[in-house]
Amino acid sequence: MTVLPTVAQAAPAATEASTLVSPFNLSAVSLTDSRWMDNQKRTVNYLKWVDLERLLYNFRATHGLSTKGATPNGGWDAPNFPFRTHAQGHYLTAWAHCYASLRDTLCRDRATYLVAELAKCQANNKAAGFGAGYLSGFPESEFTALEARTLSNGNVPYYAVHKTMAGLLDVWRHIGDTKARDVLLALAGWVDTRTSRLSYGQMQAMLGTEFGGMNEVLADLYRQTGDKRWLTVAQRFDHAAVFDPLASNQDKLNGLHANTQVPKWIGAALEYKGTGTIRYWDIARNAWNITVAAHSYAIGGNSQAEHFRPPNAISQYLTKDTAEACNTYNMLKLTRELWTLNPDSAAYFDFYERALINHLLGQQNPADSHGHVTYFTPLNSGGRRGVGPAWGGGTWSTDYDSFWCCQGTALETNTKLMDSIYFHDQSRLFVNLFTPSILRWAERGATITQTTAFPVGDTTTLTVSGSGTNQPWDMLIRIPSWTTSKGEIIINGKNSGIRVVPGSYAVISGRAWKAGDTVTVRLPMTLRTVPANDNPGVAAVAYGPVILSGDYGNNSLSSMPTLALDSLHRIQGLEFTASADGKTVRLAPFYDAHAVNYNVYWVTRGRLPRT
Ligand SMILES: [Zn+2]
Repeated sequence: MTVLPTVAQAAPAATEASTLVSPFNLSAVSLTDSRWMDNQKRTVNYLKWVDLERLLYNFRATHGLSTKGATPNGGWDAPNFPFRTHAQGHYLTAWAHCYASLRDTLCRDRATYLVAELAKCQANNKAAGFGAGYLSGFPESEFTALEARTLSNGNVPYYAVHKTMAGLLDVWRHIGDTKARDVLLALAGWVDTRTSRLSYGQMQAMLGTEFGGMNEVLADLYRQTGDKRWLTVAQRFDHAAVFDPLASNQDKLNGLHANTQVPKWIGAALEYKGTGTIRYWDIARNAWNITVAAHSYAIGGNSQAEHFRPPNAISQYLTKDTAEACNTYNMLKLTRELWTLNPDSAAYFDFYERALINHLLGQQNPADSHGHVTYFTPLNSGGRRGVGPAWGGGTWSTDYDSFWCCQGTALETNTKLMDSIYFHDQSRLFVNLFTPSILRWAERGATITQTTAFPVGDTTTLTVSGSGTNQPWDMLIRIPSWTTSKGEIIINGKNSGIRVVPGSYAVISGRAWKAGDTVTVRLPMTLRTVPANDNPGVAAVAYGPVILSGDYGNNSLSSMPTLALDSLHRIQGLEFTASADGKTVRLAPFYDAHAVNYNVYWVTRGRLPRT
């Protein structure tokens, strides 16, 4: 295989005793040809094309520098939009991902150019009348109003600053750019100065305004630097009104703006890793359990009109504005952090797989070479991606006139599709996702190549090569809860006899691997229903991990169709037919339901055929 150039990176400084399993660096894993890689390519096209001068416009204008004749952006980056420049941090992160995973030097150079220009903005703070370290596309007076609780323009200033900080951290971490580190540390210092002046009560009042993952990025900065100062600042952003009920496992989410909360929970997970205080772990895992069990649709997304609804209220909220994409992006980040604390639990990556395949993979428009995305994923009967009033329905993002939150998080999602396939500790390799990819496990001198058509096929093959195969290590493979007891693990063409229990990890223990060894995992798929928590007579239909949707072409639906479950018939692959409202309808993966009206939840009658 080709030898890839070494990537410059900055390693984390803090050690985390609580973390049992580590992710691989992005530079260790590459996608190979697949539906996943197609998504990545489209997003990378856009990342390499977008005009950097336009992205810098609001930063330069705010910090008193020339905008160099650039055209201002529209949408959520327009010069009069309250939290303009919330998006640029996502671009920084996505470019950093591309450099790490693809060795793409154009993406690296775009990231470091943007950082260098942001450094110039920050350096002009005195002339602009801002405090040392400040960096944003709107004036610092927004924070004065935020602290005084007089902000009336709908701004969420810390939400935007969080994104900039996270982007700078990723450019430092994945590209090794020390200028990004310096700009970040100065900005973090500004946050410390600004918040250290506030009383606990003032701070808690201020946290009533959405602040993204300020506790998350500051705890992550502690992880990166080992400097406890940042952990202290992170903890100032612990939002008691949200954390206290979760610490005692109470579901008080009804009515809360959903994506305002999830980043706080990721922060709690990182604060647990930083401090060892169990209460943070309780908050994060209770939040995850409550959200997954009582607030998530079959596709893994949550929220309706951006808000949490009462526990288990699913069938009552199947509308055009369900499942904001950012929430799922953040739930996946939370899932990953929690799983590393409890790697025996297969439930975490069962959810990860469900939400990634059924929500985020299909969020992107496969017909668009720039990989534009939807904000919500409509779950109303007859819903359609790309159609709707402004961002309120399912319309696609654009090159320069949307810059929604969900457009920013999708840049990250589609450039880190490789980041959670494999994990490891000293002697164990975990295979969590079935995605065509190559892992270079440097510590073991081993290369693992995963070949699969999953989820179109039910089989994946892992081939081990490389020189460092003299020491035995374990391979643990997630056996999803949706598979049957007939799954099998075949090693070098022979059934291994290893126990394959749905909802657990199968273990190939202590094997001395030889170059060319193959492990084939077969995970039989069957039809199943995913009933709405609040109505057992309403359900989505899945085959294995894949939610199927009815293809209604351009026909509209005035009510939820009634599906005769016993009529479901497999044509080939993931394509089925069935009878709904007495008419034949084609069912296929929801992630591929593009340019058609679709139906995900059905009134169900009868029983599924035995497969
Ligand atoms: Zn969003």
